[in-house]
Amino acid sequence: MNQRPLETTATGPAFVPGPVLLLGAPGVGKGKQAQILMAQFGIPQISTGDLLRSNIAKGTELGMQAKSTMEQGKLVSDELVNQMVAERLKQPDAVRGYILDGFPRTMPQAVWLDSHLGTKALPVVAVSMTVDYDQLLQRITGRRTCTVCKHIYNVFSNPPKVAGVCDFDCAPLEQRADDIETVFAERMKTFAAQTAPVIEHYRVLGRFEEVDGQRPVAEVTSAIEAALRRLRGARA
Ligand code: AMP
Repeated sequence: MNQRPLETTATGPAFVPGPVLLLGAPGVGKGKQAQILMAQFGIPQISTGDLLRSNIAKGTELGMQAKSTMEQGKLVSDELVNQMVAERLKQPDAVRGYILDGFPRTMPQAVWLDSHLGTKALPVVAVSMTVDYDQLLQRITGRRTCTVCKHIYNVFSNPPKVAGVCDFDCAPLEQRADDIETVFAERMKTFAAQTAPVIEHYRVLGRFEEVDGQRPVAEVTSAIEAALRRLRGARA
């Protein structure tokens, strides 16, 4: 049965964007925007990077297979990632739609996703975010995450009050193993070789818009929302 992008609620029609892909280079802000949109639309954010990191933290077989690949800034195999996404999409919270953050990252993943979804749901729509290289480098190498509440800081643009310590729970901050400059350069090469063609794929299909990820966070969110409404043919 097809899902509809507009649902009627007690307060009027609520926009439900269906399956959404947030695409872009490492550090463009996909995770941050996905979390805001998740709260806004009541649909889950599905980040393949977060799912992989959680498997590593739990010491699962999948996590053990993925760990060293991730630390080198390379991509985990399509089979592993597709299977992980297939399992996640079976969860009941994904029925009304979801925001895929960091997937698909290769053409085989994009082809798999289209055939996996078939005609059961609304077709996916893709929004790509763009940010200059130097800005990405600063965002990535400055990123620190609270080990407890997962709040994200940036030592250059949004530092904690006390260096290395979370403002909210005083827990130590950590840097992701793949957020150092050499690994970032490798991740950018991987992005250009494998993910840029995915962005072109959705651009050609016409289920695609691009937004400037360098503007303030709230403006980027508004631009993404406006793009989603246009892509689903809904009124603002
Ligand atoms: P992210 O948190 O999205 O920056 O992803 C961190 C790392 O996880 C990437 O550099 C890859 O090693 C791995 N990863 C995340 N998503 C994928 C994916 N869709 N395909 C392959 N590897 C992935």
